[in-house]
Amino acid sequence: MPTDYYELLGVSRDADGATIKAAYRKLALKYHPDRNPNDHEAEERFKQVNEAYAVLSDGEKRRRYDRFGSEDEGVQFGGDIFDIFSSVFGGGFAQAGRARAQGQPGEDLEARVEITLEQAREGAQIPIQLERMARCEHCEGDRAEPGSDGKTTCPTCNGVGQVRAQAQSLFGTVMTTRVCPRCQGAGQVVTTPCTACSGRGRTLQTDTVEVGLPKGIDGGYRLRVPGQGNAGVDGGPDGDLYVYLELAPHEHFVRDGDHLRYVLEVGPAQAALGSSFEVPTMDGPEVIELSPGTQPGAEVRLHGRGMPRLRRAGNGDQIVTVRVVIPRKLSRTARDLLASYADEVGEEIHEKQTLLDRLKDVFGGRKRRARGRKDDGADDGEVDGAAGADDDEDREPVADETATRA
Ligand SMILES: [Zn+2]
Ligand SMILES: [Zn+2]
Repeated sequence: MPTDYYELLGVSRDADGATIKAAYRKLALKYHPDRNPNDHEAEERFKQVNEAYAVLSDGEKRRRYDRFGSEDEGVQFGGDIFDIFSSVFGGGFAQAGRARAQGQPGEDLEARVEITLEQAREGAQIPIQLERMARCEHCEGDRAEPGSDGKTTCPTCNGVGQVRAQAQSLFGTVMTTRVCPRCQGAGQVVTTPCTACSGRGRTLQTDTVEVGLPKGIDGGYRLRVPGQGNAGVDGGPDGDLYVYLELAPHEHFVRDGDHLRYVLEVGPAQAALGSSFEVPTMDGPEVIELSPGTQPGAEVRLHGRGMPRLRRAGNGDQIVTVRVVIPRKLSRTARDLLASYADEVGEEIHEKQTLLDRLKDVFGGRKRRARGRKDDGADDGEVDGAAGADDDEDREPVADETATRA
């Protein structure tokens, strides 16, 4: 059975809206449960066709689908298939189909999970612990106390499990059957309820569900795990589990689509003279070469060291961005050498003395408050040398504002 939405509808990937709708109409009628009673394959096909149409008829969902491939991830479906059907065909018909469902379906559940970059890259199996209504182990979902004569024929439907009703459909007025509202289709009502589940057929349990991550998955995606929601009652289908993924921050890398970004901090001399560096990658450390004269912001690409492309072949890259860090403090020797360097290349250093600087010299000690008033002069101190330059940045704004106004 094809899982590709275009294949399901039998249309080409560039089909327009009208073509998609026409294809959907044809297939939805063909596989509709009313035309295929008790045919599970047709029912499954009907679901798929509806899901395909829900996605391909919506511009935004279709774009995401085209980009991310044929699986559920990235495509937010989450509607009732009969809602889609009635949006195309009109109301009454859908009701007839919906009433076929036996028993009470289990509810869907949601879970939020934080995954690591490593897990997203490897496509790991992750355990998800959740509380859910699971089938009662004592009565096995039967709802009556085992061994007792715990059930009797439903008086509303006389044990048939369904009541008859009329409905309008595309095929004219049809006699249709609805699930009996009293026994929910079971044909029997419980007289001696199971002692473990009080006759509900299910109990709250803590379970661990293993979910397989597709390689290259990212935060923001949703995974559907069929049948891992709450258990259905009286033969109703189990609900699904929807897992919303979040990507935990990584100590080295920031994800950028299929690429991973890494910032390499180098000193000015290393950038100017060139050097080799060992950088971390997801596959272990790797040595890169920076040529002499490397500029701040320069990028080095490590091909294939990024993330696997979701549902496609190949990997993204690791992009190493060079950040040149200017030393905030210099030893006397380093300062002299740098001054000689400046002299050699003709980089002029003007050691400007402002009125404020002179005042500082006079009063000494804590003069930062005075400097803050005149921002344009405040930077000069850093050229003067190490003393006090470092603590300038942190506290200035707030402290100075209040000091000025007081
Ligand atoms: Zn029970
Ligand atoms: Zn009944």
